[in-house]
Amino acid sequence: MRLDWLAERLAEIEALGLYRRRRVVERIHGAQALVEGRPVLNFCSNDYLGLADHPDVVAAFRRGADMYGVGSGASHWVTGHSPPHHALEEELADFTGRERALLFSTGYMANLGVIAALAGRGDWVFEDRLNHASLLDGGLLSGARLKRYAHADAEALRSLLAECPAAVKLIASDGVFSMDGDLAPLPELSKLASQTNASLMIDDAHGLGVVGPTGRGVVEHFGLGVADVPVLVGTLGKAFGTFGAFVAGSEDLIEYLIQTCRPAIYTTALPPAVAEATRASLRLLIAETWRRDKLRLLIKRFRLGAAQLRLNLLASDTPIQPILVGDNHAAVQASQSLLAAGFLVSAIRPPTVPEGTARLRITLSAAHQESDVERLLEALAGLNFD
Ligand SMILES: *Cc1c(COP(=O)(O)O)cnc(C)c1O
Repeated sequence: MRLDWLAERLAEIEALGLYRRRRVVERIHGAQALVEGRPVLNFCSNDYLGLADHPDVVAAFRRGADMYGVGSGASHWVTGHSPPHHALEEELADFTGRERALLFSTGYMANLGVIAALAGRGDWVFEDRLNHASLLDGGLLSGARLKRYAHADAEALRSLLAECPAAVKLIASDGVFSMDGDLAPLPELSKLASQTNASLMIDDAHGLGVVGPTGRGVVEHFGLGVADVPVLVGTLGKAFGTFGAFVAGSEDLIEYLIQTCRPAIYTTALPPAVAEATRASLRLLIAETWRRDKLRLLIKRFRLGAAQLRLNLLASDTPIQPILVGDNHAAVQASQSLLAAGFLVSAIRPPTVPEGTARLRITLSAAHQESDVERLLEALAGLNFD
């Protein structure tokens, strides 16, 4: 075994300020977290609606475990497809206004699987530069030619499409950009797709449940329909507060994935209890409109306060409210100072974001109170970002 190079490489990563350390978070309850025995306010979770520990969701999970046990025991294609899985797929299809939905174990696998199913050698895949790693990896893994266009730049995409000789063209984009919080220019993307006979796939991991008048995500926000965005990916680990992912679309799309999609076929199905819990969280996500209303108020309050502090905010109206820092070490330092002051805020560095754009990724949740946001703003006012 010749692995001596690992230590050297690790030292290099450390020197670049890019070393990643996982922290043990002992408990999370609503907006509160316990880190190293100390209570802190959590401003970096993706549990935007505060559903991850909702009593109804937890009770559904328990009921599911009592009924079906813990593990699903097999792939959906063998014996792993249970009644809660099937019901959840139907409810997600209904929620997104599509004919069918297909569950995946994670959003990462959904993106790998869907892109590889829809494009391959000889085809072209077009992706926003700031797409989530799973979409980019999906593009690479598919064997298709991967073309990345400048962030949210429909004109750049238009020129790339114009020079594409391939018959099969797939455009894939985040709906809400996960590290920036802004929205993809969906109307332009869908127009380009139809003009050039390309397919459009949107990963709305951060939009579903949050964005749009009824939480149906970026498609609803822009007043678009199923025909505009025929392939929709959603994840269940964010606003849904549980775990897993799904793809929603036409009968043919889902049937084709059932026949060919390797990251769905060759893996164990989600625990049925997770599907039960997600059914409960979907009901809350639809019915409890106050969660979205509250979130909008908190976002407004935070942006107003941060602008007064002249913090380097990005143009985002979503719960993802990053503060651009630039330098990797400075971003980590700011995150550590915030932790010492009782706030959990993660520093995001390359390669998750482009070089020189390290940031604090602050996320808001309906579990926060306005006073929590005010306390965070006070702590940010005391920070020195150099
Ligand atoms: C989180 C995320 C994923 C991955 O979903 P998981 O279920 O956590 O694997 C995919 N796409 C985007 C845009 C995400 O933010």
